[in-house]
Amino acid sequence: MKKKLITLTMAIALTASLVACSDSSAETTADTSENTNASEATQTLVMATNAEFPPYEYHDGEDDQIVGIDAEIAAAIAEKIGCTLEIEDIAFDSVIPEVTSGKADIGMAGMTVTEERKQSVNFSDSYATAVQVVIVPEDSDIASIDDLSGKIIGVQSGTTGDLYATDDYGDENVERYNKGMEAVQALSQGKVDAVIIDNEPAKVFVEETEGLKILDSAYAEEQYAIAIAIDNTELLDKVNAALAELKADGTIDSIVSKYITVE
Ligand code: GLN
Repeated sequence: MKKKLITLTMAIALTASLVACSDSSAETTADTSENTNASEATQTLVMATNAEFPPYEYHDGEDDQIVGIDAEIAAAIAEKIGCTLEIEDIAFDSVIPEVTSGKADIGMAGMTVTEERKQSVNFSDSYATAVQVVIVPEDSDIASIDDLSGKIIGVQSGTTGDLYATDDYGDENVERYNKGMEAVQALSQGKVDAVIIDNEPAKVFVEETEGLKILDSAYAEEQYAIAIAIDNTELLDKVNAALAELKADGTIDSIVSKYITVE
Protein backbone atom coordinates (compact mmCIF):
# COMPACT_ATOMS: atom_id res chain seq x y z
CA MET A 1 0.00 0.00 0.00
CA LYS A 2 2.76 2.38 1.02
CA LYS A 3 4.74 1.52 -2.08
CA LYS A 4 1.74 2.19 -4.26
CA LEU A 5 1.32 5.59 -2.66
CA ILE A 6 4.94 6.50 -3.35
CA THR A 7 4.60 5.39 -6.97
CA LEU A 8 1.48 7.47 -7.34
CA THR A 9 3.20 10.52 -5.83
CA MET A 10 6.07 10.07 -8.23
CA ALA A 11 3.66 9.75 -11.12
CA ILE A 12 2.00 13.01 -10.13
CA ALA A 13 5.38 14.75 -9.77
CA LEU A 14 6.51 13.47 -13.14
CA THR A 15 3.24 14.43 -14.75
CA ALA A 16 3.38 17.92 -13.27
CA SER A 17 6.75 18.52 -14.84
CA LEU A 18 5.39 17.54 -18.24
CA VAL A 19 2.34 19.72 -18.03
CA ALA A 20 2.45 22.61 -20.42
CA CYS A 21 -1.24 23.29 -20.57
CA SER A 22 -3.59 22.02 -17.93
CA ASP A 23 -2.80 21.20 -14.31
CA SER A 24 -6.28 19.86 -13.74
CA SER A 25 -5.80 17.07 -16.25
CA ALA A 26 -2.70 15.90 -14.34
CA GLU A 27 -4.94 14.79 -11.48
CA THR A 28 -7.23 12.96 -13.85
CA THR A 29 -4.31 11.07 -15.32
CA ALA A 30 -2.87 10.08 -11.95
CA ASP A 31 -5.97 8.18 -10.96
CA THR A 32 -6.80 6.76 -14.38
CA SER A 33 -4.62 3.67 -14.13
CA GLU A 34 -5.61 2.20 -17.48
CA ASN A 35 -4.33 5.28 -19.20
CA THR A 36 -0.91 4.18 -20.35
CA ASN A 37 0.09 7.20 -22.36
CA ALA A 38 0.45 9.65 -19.50
CA SER A 39 2.17 12.46 -21.36
CA GLU A 40 -0.42 12.61 -24.12
CA ALA A 41 -3.33 12.61 -21.69
CA THR A 42 -1.85 15.29 -19.40
CA GLN A 43 -1.21 17.72 -22.18
CA THR A 44 -4.69 18.94 -22.77
CA LEU A 45 -5.31 22.56 -23.57
CA VAL A 46 -8.83 23.36 -22.43
CA MET A 47 -10.41 26.24 -24.35
CA ALA A 48 -13.56 27.85 -22.99
CA THR A 49 -15.74 29.44 -25.64
CA ASN A 50 -19.31 30.27 -26.59
CA ALA A 51 -19.87 28.51 -29.91
CA GLU A 52 -22.62 30.88 -31.10
CA PHE A 53 -20.35 33.34 -32.83
CA PRO A 54 -19.74 32.53 -36.50
CA PRO A 55 -17.24 32.64 -38.17
CA TYR A 56 -15.08 32.50 -35.00
CA GLU A 57 -16.79 29.57 -33.23
CA TYR A 58 -19.98 27.75 -34.11
CA HIS A 59 -21.46 24.27 -34.44
CA ASP A 60 -21.35 22.74 -37.88
CA GLY A 61 -21.51 19.49 -39.81
CA GLU A 62 -23.27 16.20 -39.17
CA ASP A 63 -21.51 15.66 -35.86
CA ASP A 64 -22.21 19.24 -34.78
CA GLN A 65 -18.52 19.86 -34.21
CA ILE A 66 -17.28 23.25 -33.01
CA VAL A 67 -15.48 24.88 -35.93
CA GLY A 68 -14.37 28.40 -36.84
CA ILE A 69 -11.38 30.72 -36.83
CA ASP A 70 -10.82 30.56 -33.06
CA ALA A 71 -11.23 26.79 -32.94
CA GLU A 72 -8.65 26.35 -35.71
CA ILE A 73 -6.17 28.88 -34.31
CA ALA A 74 -6.48 27.23 -30.88
CA ALA A 75 -5.85 23.81 -32.44
CA ALA A 76 -2.76 25.17 -34.20
CA ILE A 77 -1.48 26.72 -30.94
CA ALA A 78 -2.16 23.48 -29.05
CA GLU A 79 -0.19 21.54 -31.63
CA LYS A 80 2.74 23.96 -31.42
CA ILE A 81 2.95 23.68 -27.65
CA GLY A 82 2.44 19.91 -27.65
CA CYS A 83 -1.10 19.69 -26.32
CA THR A 84 -4.40 18.21 -27.36
CA LEU A 85 -7.16 20.78 -27.67
CA GLU A 86 -10.40 20.30 -25.78
CA ILE A 87 -13.20 22.83 -26.36
CA GLU A 88 -15.77 23.67 -23.72
CA ASP A 89 -18.92 25.41 -24.96
CA ILE A 90 -20.38 27.67 -22.25
CA ALA A 91 -22.17 31.01 -21.93
CA PHE A 92 -20.09 34.00 -23.06
CA ASP A 93 -20.39 35.55 -19.56
CA SER A 94 -18.81 32.42 -18.07
CA VAL A 95 -15.71 32.28 -20.27
CA ILE A 96 -13.56 34.57 -18.09
CA PRO A 97 -14.70 32.99 -14.78
CA GLU A 98 -13.86 29.56 -16.26
CA VAL A 99 -10.31 30.79 -16.95
CA THR A 100 -9.81 32.57 -13.61
CA SER A 101 -11.00 29.48 -11.72
CA GLY A 102 -8.51 27.31 -13.64
CA LYS A 103 -11.20 25.07 -15.14
CA ALA A 104 -10.12 26.20 -18.60
CA ASP A 105 -6.59 27.08 -19.69
CA ILE A 106 -7.60 29.62 -22.29
CA GLY A 107 -10.68 31.66 -23.12
CA MET A 108 -11.10 32.25 -26.83
CA ALA A 109 -14.44 33.58 -28.00
CA GLY A 110 -13.90 36.47 -30.37
CA MET A 111 -13.07 38.16 -27.11
CA THR A 112 -12.19 41.83 -27.16
CA VAL A 113 -9.37 43.09 -24.98
CA THR A 114 -10.82 45.58 -22.49
CA GLU A 115 -9.32 47.34 -19.47
CA GLU A 116 -12.03 45.86 -17.26
CA ARG A 117 -11.34 42.27 -18.36
CA LYS A 118 -7.61 42.88 -17.85
CA GLN A 119 -8.36 43.20 -14.14
CA SER A 120 -9.28 39.48 -14.11
CA VAL A 121 -7.18 37.86 -16.85
CA ASN A 122 -4.09 38.36 -18.96
CA PHE A 123 -4.54 38.67 -22.70
CA SER A 124 -2.25 37.20 -25.33
CA ASP A 125 -1.09 39.30 -28.24
CA SER A 126 -3.99 40.13 -30.52
CA TYR A 127 -4.79 37.79 -33.40
CA ALA A 128 -7.68 39.70 -35.03
CA THR A 129 -9.25 43.13 -35.38
CA ALA A 130 -12.98 43.67 -35.15
CA VAL A 131 -15.50 46.49 -35.22
CA GLN A 132 -18.82 46.79 -33.43
CA VAL A 133 -21.51 47.44 -36.02
CA VAL A 134 -25.19 48.26 -35.92
CA ILE A 135 -27.81 46.02 -37.57
CA VAL A 136 -31.22 47.53 -38.39
CA PRO A 137 -34.23 46.52 -40.52
CA GLU A 138 -33.81 47.49 -44.18
CA ASP A 139 -36.61 50.06 -43.89
CA SER A 140 -35.44 51.51 -40.55
CA ASP A 141 -35.38 55.26 -39.89
CA ILE A 142 -32.05 54.73 -38.12
CA ALA A 143 -29.46 55.87 -40.65
CA SER A 144 -26.43 56.22 -38.40
CA ILE A 145 -25.27 55.77 -34.81
CA ASP A 146 -26.54 59.30 -34.05
CA ASP A 147 -30.12 58.09 -34.56
CA LEU A 148 -29.89 55.40 -31.88
CA SER A 149 -30.79 57.48 -28.83
CA GLY A 150 -34.17 56.57 -27.41
CA LYS A 151 -34.27 53.36 -29.44
CA ILE A 152 -34.29 49.85 -27.99
CA ILE A 153 -31.01 48.09 -28.66
CA GLY A 154 -30.55 44.33 -28.62
CA VAL A 155 -27.18 42.90 -27.57
CA GLN A 156 -25.56 39.68 -26.50
CA SER A 157 -25.25 39.79 -22.73
CA GLY A 158 -21.83 40.67 -21.34
CA THR A 159 -20.26 41.65 -24.66
CA THR A 160 -18.64 44.93 -25.60
CA GLY A 161 -21.76 45.65 -27.66
CA ASP A 162 -23.71 45.43 -24.38
CA LEU A 163 -21.16 47.71 -22.72
CA TYR A 164 -21.33 50.39 -25.44
CA ALA A 165 -25.11 50.30 -25.66
CA THR A 166 -25.54 50.53 -21.90
CA ASP A 167 -22.98 53.33 -21.53
CA ASP A 168 -24.23 55.38 -24.46
CA TYR A 169 -28.00 54.85 -24.39
CA GLY A 170 -28.80 53.73 -20.82
CA ASP A 171 -29.70 50.39 -19.28
CA GLU A 172 -33.43 50.97 -19.87
CA ASN A 173 -32.83 50.99 -23.63
CA VAL A 174 -30.89 47.73 -23.77
CA GLU A 175 -32.38 44.25 -24.25
CA ARG A 176 -29.93 41.44 -23.47
CA TYR A 177 -29.95 37.99 -25.09
CA ASN A 178 -27.83 34.89 -24.46
CA LYS A 179 -26.86 34.54 -28.10
CA GLY A 180 -26.14 37.14 -30.76
CA MET A 181 -28.50 35.34 -33.14
CA GLU A 182 -31.33 35.65 -30.60
CA ALA A 183 -30.85 39.42 -30.56
CA VAL A 184 -30.95 39.43 -34.37
CA GLN A 185 -34.15 37.34 -34.37
CA ALA A 186 -35.72 39.79 -31.90
CA LEU A 187 -34.79 42.56 -34.33
CA SER A 188 -36.46 40.85 -37.26
CA GLN A 189 -39.58 40.34 -35.12
CA GLY A 190 -39.64 44.06 -34.27
CA LYS A 191 -38.96 43.52 -30.56
CA VAL A 192 -35.88 45.76 -30.68
CA ASP A 193 -34.93 48.61 -33.04
CA ALA A 194 -31.26 47.79 -33.61
CA VAL A 195 -28.57 45.28 -32.63
CA ILE A 196 -24.97 46.17 -31.77
CA ILE A 197 -22.60 43.29 -32.44
CA ASP A 198 -19.19 42.42 -33.90
CA ASN A 199 -18.87 42.88 -37.68
CA GLU A 200 -18.14 39.33 -38.82
CA PRO A 201 -20.96 37.59 -36.93
CA ALA A 202 -23.17 40.52 -38.02
CA LYS A 203 -22.50 39.68 -41.68
CA VAL A 204 -23.34 36.00 -41.10
CA PHE A 205 -26.54 36.76 -39.18
CA VAL A 206 -27.75 39.36 -41.69
CA GLU A 207 -27.13 36.91 -44.51
CA GLU A 208 -29.22 34.29 -42.71
CA THR A 209 -32.10 36.66 -41.90
CA GLU A 210 -34.44 38.41 -44.35
CA GLY A 211 -34.84 42.18 -44.38
CA LEU A 212 -31.89 43.39 -42.31
CA LYS A 213 -28.86 45.54 -43.09
CA ILE A 214 -25.66 46.73 -41.44
CA LEU A 215 -25.16 50.49 -41.06
CA ASP A 216 -22.08 52.03 -42.64
CA SER A 217 -21.20 53.95 -39.49
CA ALA A 218 -19.61 51.77 -36.82
CA TYR A 219 -18.15 51.92 -33.34
CA ALA A 220 -14.44 51.88 -32.53
CA GLU A 221 -12.11 49.16 -33.63
CA GLU A 222 -11.37 46.36 -31.17
CA GLN A 223 -8.71 43.68 -30.77
CA TYR A 224 -9.44 40.00 -30.17
CA ALA A 225 -7.05 38.08 -27.94
CA ILE A 226 -6.84 34.93 -25.85
CA ALA A 227 -7.63 35.16 -22.12
CA ILE A 228 -5.29 33.31 -19.76
CA ALA A 229 -5.19 33.19 -15.93
CA ILE A 230 -3.07 36.02 -14.51
CA ASP A 231 -0.74 33.64 -12.63
CA ASN A 232 -0.17 31.38 -15.66
CA THR A 233 2.56 33.46 -17.29
CA GLU A 234 4.25 30.28 -18.53
CA LEU A 235 1.25 29.50 -20.73
CA LEU A 236 0.92 33.15 -21.77
CA ASP A 237 4.51 33.12 -23.04
CA LYS A 238 3.98 29.84 -24.89
CA VAL A 239 0.77 31.04 -26.50
CA ASN A 240 2.39 34.31 -27.60
CA ALA A 241 5.39 32.47 -29.05
CA ALA A 242 3.06 30.08 -30.91
CA LEU A 243 0.92 32.97 -32.18
CA ALA A 244 4.00 34.80 -33.48
CA GLU A 245 5.08 31.70 -35.41
CA LEU A 246 1.59 31.12 -36.78
CA LYS A 247 1.37 34.74 -37.92
CA ALA A 248 4.83 34.65 -39.50
CA ASP A 249 4.32 31.40 -41.42
CA GLY A 250 0.93 32.46 -42.79
CA THR A 251 -1.15 29.92 -40.84
CA ILE A 252 -3.40 32.55 -39.23
CA ASP A 253 -4.04 34.25 -42.58
CA SER A 254 -4.93 30.98 -44.24
CA ILE A 255 -7.31 30.02 -41.41
CA VAL A 256 -9.01 33.44 -41.61
CA SER A 257 -9.36 33.26 -45.39
CA LYS A 258 -11.10 29.87 -45.09
CA TYR A 259 -13.89 31.56 -43.15
CA ILE A 260 -13.89 35.19 -44.30
CA THR A 261 -14.05 36.18 -47.94
CA VAL A 262 -12.73 39.64 -48.57
CA GLU A 263 -15.04 41.57 -50.87
N1 GLN B 1 -16.11 40.84 -29.08
C1 GLN B 1 -17.21 40.90 -28.19
C2 GLN B 1 -16.73 40.87 -26.78
O1 GLN B 1 -15.64 40.46 -26.51
C3 GLN B 1 -18.24 39.80 -28.43
C4 GLN B 1 -17.72 38.41 -28.24
C5 GLN B 1 -18.76 37.32 -28.34
O2 GLN B 1 -19.97 37.59 -28.33
N2 GLN B 1 -18.36 36.10 -28.43
O3 GLN B 1 -17.41 41.25 -25.88
